[in-house]
Amino acid sequence: EQRDLQGLVNEKAVTANGIPVRLAANIGKLSDIIEAQKVGVKEIGLFRTEFLYMDRNSLPTEEEQYQSYKQVVEAFPHRVIIRTLDIGGDKELPYLKLAKELNPFLGKRAIRLALTEKGLFKTQLRAILRASRHGNIGIMFPMIATLEELQAAKELLAAAKAELVAEGVELANPVEVGMMMETPAAALAADIFAKEVDFFSIGTNDLIQYTMAADRMNEQVAYLYQPTHPAICRLLEGIVQAGHNAGIWVGMCGEMAGNPEYTEHLLKMGLDELSMTRGAVLRVKQKIRQISL
Ligand code: PEP
Ligand code: MG
Repeated sequence: EQRDLQGLVNEKAVTANGIPVRLAANIGKLSDIIEAQKVGVKEIGLFRTEFLYMDRNSLPTEEEQYQSYKQVVEAFPHRVIIRTLDIGGDKELPYLKLAKELNPFLGKRAIRLALTEKGLFKTQLRAILRASRHGNIGIMFPMIATLEELQAAKELLAAAKAELVAEGVELANPVEVGMMMETPAAALAADIFAKEVDFFSIGTNDLIQYTMAADRMNEQVAYLYQPTHPAICRLLEGIVQAGHNAGIWVGMCGEMAGNPEYTEHLLKMGLDELSMTRGAVLRVKQKIRQISL
């Protein structure tokens, strides 16, 4: 079977009846670049940037971040979606001295933290914008629940851009700006958010966790992790429809996207892009090539 899969590395992700599907990889550290290239991936649908901040004693500088983003963007010229910092929840940064929380997954995580640590956030946005001229970048904000959060993030992005322009730094053509769809609040109000972004990327790991009220790390409630529960189906369909009604593309970067069991379901739902861990890419591609839509 491994040999059959290996033969698919250079084949197109296209359905049996000829419909092309955008297949992308999720990466979380620079060594993933080579691994993703080995399975023929041309596009990154989720670049988790947490690694830049973890296992160290201080914040990464703008220059350090810029060099890392540049490396990824040059390796995947089609497109790289960079997600801004998603720390909090189970991931801690000792040097930030964050308050202990009773429910970290419901606490100051991801965009909530970024908007209270504006200096940290702006440094990251500047580094991403600077890297944009080396390829095709999209910026994505994690854990958005309210329009105000999205607007505040976009304002900070505009401020970072204005700073760079004033400094005479060369920037790329408009960078796509999107948001993760991973809170039930955002999913249920997707039509409102769709007017404010260029794309959605569905984070099923968190969307399922928060919708089913079941900790994604807790084995004892793992049976509640049900990607085809009617409630999840309705949310996913609603997100795709709201996105398409507003003329934006909708991808999925949660684990569900990398499970071939769900590939047909997701394509029929109309998802425009599936992004997954590199280990899942060839199996999902094989599945896509068997499906007739
Ligand atoms: C998700 O929540 O589905 C997702 C892709 O983000 P993370 O797993 O990094 O929380
Ligand atoms: Mg998430």
